[in-house]
Amino acid sequence: MSRIYNFSAGPSMLPTSVLIQAQQEMLDWQGSGMSVMEMSHRGKHFLAIAEQMKSDLIELMAIPGNYQVLFLQGGATAQFAMIPQNILNGKTKACYVNTGAWSTSAIKEAGKYCEVKLAASSEATKFTTIPAFAERDIDSDAAYLHYTSNETIHGVEFQGIPPSADLPLVCDMSSNILSRPVDVSRFGIIYAGTQKNMGPSGVTVVIVREDLIGLAPKTVPSVFDYAAQAKSDSMLNTPATYNWYLLGLVLQWLKHQGGVAAIEQRNIAKSSKLYAAIDASSLYSNPVETSCRSRMNVPFVLADAALDKAFLAQAEQQGLSTLAGHRSVGGMRASIYNAMPEQGVDALIDFMAEFERTH
Ligand SMILES: *Cc1c(COP(=O)(O)O)cnc(C)c1O
Repeated sequence: MSRIYNFSAGPSMLPTSVLIQAQQEMLDWQGSGMSVMEMSHRGKHFLAIAEQMKSDLIELMAIPGNYQVLFLQGGATAQFAMIPQNILNGKTKACYVNTGAWSTSAIKEAGKYCEVKLAASSEATKFTTIPAFAERDIDSDAAYLHYTSNETIHGVEFQGIPPSADLPLVCDMSSNILSRPVDVSRFGIIYAGTQKNMGPSGVTVVIVREDLIGLAPKTVPSVFDYAAQAKSDSMLNTPATYNWYLLGLVLQWLKHQGGVAAIEQRNIAKSSKLYAAIDASSLYSNPVETSCRSRMNVPFVLADAALDKAFLAQAEQQGLSTLAGHRSVGGMRASIYNAMPEQGVDALIDFMAEFERTH
């Protein structure tokens, strides 16, 4: 068996130890005589798995007691609609920060439900910066302020929490959740699809402050209503049981790595050396302003785009896979989430240097 280094933006690499444990427990989970896939979501085995998974997430993120943690379906994309549906609370406006492709999608969807006010946008720089903004840029009549903490396609990342005036702060953390410590108490809602940094696809983690639960109009379908989901422990419909289990294994792995503060140090080390290698070369370049660079998604272009094909083909031969940039921006992108080992980044840097030498 040989495993490649997979630089995919998501679904992305999982820790090998997690996959091995899942394999070992595939036919018989801890003496239950069955696979987790076959268990009733109401049975004692699965309820124990779910309980452990949720308490590990609460511990890893230090989620305060006045928040509910939901495990939903429909991805971050469903949240683009569920957020306005649940928390507009009779208001007609919501404030958004536009920093790239994913915030643009969130804005478009919110526009179906309310008027979207932009607090700031970096579109003029082709999304290569994080725009500065202040409380006075935020419409105080808006129901909430939404931003995307890491833009997976453009490779820009907020390095801190932006101002929100007194509005509930809502954040799409799909591609950098659990990669660095965050003060959850500053947020109204944090949401993230699991397939970037937490497990396979199929689960959306939604961390929502209790005062934002129960505000949805009666016409909102129950599965989309935070209150109904919170009341039923995210089991209003049959949950993605096996994906909850795998999410739980990834959280256990992260605890064994030393938790979020420890993984942050590794993420700093991995991303710094990759950016340093790009900056030192004359073949590769990264368009993002240095202070806004993402630790998770590193886009770069070759000085001569005619070499792109050869670069990708030769990388693939070395077991360095899925390095093509998003179809909307082209070039290359190395996604280096928590589960990407430092050796994977080292192998990429070595390959890039060798490719530059020979071209
Ligand atoms: C991947 C991604 C999404 C979309 O997630 P889905 O689970 O496919 O809906 C949204 N926002 C960000 C920042 C992402 O990285």
